[in-house]
Amino acid sequence: MIEVKKLQKVYSDNTVLKDITEEVKKGQVICVIGPSGAGKSTFLRCLNLLEQPTNGQVLFKGTDLTTLDEKHVNELREKMGMVFQSFNLFPNMNVIENLKLAPIKVKHMSDADATNVAKDLLTKVGLAEKAEAYPTSLSGGQQQRVAIARALAMNPEVMLFDEPTSALDPEMVGEVLKVMHDLANDGMTMVVVTHEMGFAKSVADKIWFMADGYIQESADPDTFFNHPQTDRAKDFLEKVL
Ligand code: ATP
Ligand code: MG
Repeated sequence: MIEVKKLQKVYSDNTVLKDITEEVKKGQVICVIGPSGAGKSTFLRCLNLLEQPTNGQVLFKGTDLTTLDEKHVNELREKMGMVFQSFNLFPNMNVIENLKLAPIKVKHMSDADATNVAKDLLTKVGLAEKAEAYPTSLSGGQQQRVAIARALAMNPEVMLFDEPTSALDPEMVGEVLKVMHDLANDGMTMVVVTHEMGFAKSVADKIWFMADGYIQESADPDTFFNHPQTDRAKDFLEKVL
């Protein structure tokens, strides 16, 4: 579904992504892990062209995003939902308005259809009773679940998550991971940058270990966690496990 070929990203004299070639297949859950500053966020943002790669290609269902004009990039970006560490809900809108905005504005969905989609998604993330609430009245975990539902309201084909639980109080991490777990079980294609090793172990089809601008290891969780190949990965796992 997403093919990355010889991807490179340079900020002035800092080569953050050096040479990345990988593929995300339909239905796969990829967890991207690695030390701070490794380039994980930069990599994720290159997948939907929030960052323009310096070199290389990012193909989404066969189309090279790096060659498209802004309008066509936007069209494809609609198929890629993204959830950030900070929830970024629209503070002046209640929960259901947050969910309905893009489907109505961008997809020209009717108000009634958008309401139905939004209600279904709020039920799915366990927040049906919060439809009329404003973001500031919700806990961090609830806000992040709304943010996930809002991304899903566009009916994306792939979901990109950048440390979705890192800003949460510990007791709220589980409720957000559960929503992501359910999504994975439903067959959603997902690329998840995370420090939650338990989640990565139990949900990922593949771990990409990123360090120093490269994906140093790409392996199934059992292999990666029990038999890491590189010293870089062994060192990282000793620190986090
Ligand atoms: P963390 O785990 O802390 O989130 P990360 O793996 O996501 O780290 P990135 O945020 O991708 O790492 O950053 C990788 C490198 O790129 C860092 O050295 C960072 O300073 C640099 N960088 C990121 N964004 C920019 C930018 N917009 N301009 C210049 N340098 C940047
Ligand atoms: Mg990051």
